[in-house]
Amino acid sequence: MSLEKEIQESLPKHAKFYVKNGMHGLGCFASRFIRKGERIMVFKGPLITYAQTKTKEHKDHYFQIGPKSFQGKAPLRRRPVNHSCNPNAGIIGSETLIAIRNIKKGEEITFDYSTTMYNDSVILRCNCGSRQCRHIIKEFRYLPEKTQLKYMKIGVVPKWLRLRLKSGLRHDSL
Ligand SMILES: [Zn+2]
Repeated sequence: MSLEKEIQESLPKHAKFYVKNGMHGLGCFASRFIRKGERIMVFKGPLITYAQTKTKEHKDHYFQIGPKSFQGKAPLRRRPVNHSCNPNAGIIGSETLIAIRNIKKGEEITFDYSTTMYNDSVILRCNCGSRQCRHIIKEFRYLPEKTQLKYMKIGVVPKWLRLRLKSGLRHDSL
């Protein structure tokens, strides 16, 4: 069975999204109209350490959920939500994806990966095609101030990241 099918079949029946191959590999697409502010999904996966984010298993599938916590790849429960520099969704709390504007049925669901990146030296390339495309995805603190403020205002910058930014603390002991 293809990975696309496997993930699709692991989803709950009434999931607001489906998984298919899109422009940027596997992605999540709205299975119906999703209203701004609506919860779309909760990311679930094993808790891993920073060192584990470098392993082959988790390398391309983790995201940061706390100053020193990362969520790794969840086999079959993977939610391949791609990045966009002009996203239609964002993360609240540390693992819940919500729509930050109305999303049409069939539209790809995306969030800005920088909103969960802090003290992570990984630099990703972006080719999302939006007019706002930054071409490079780095930690939140490197975002243009205007963009940082926009995400803060919408409420899609996790609390742990906001606190870290405020304190200016780096966690070199990861
Ligand atoms: Zn982009």
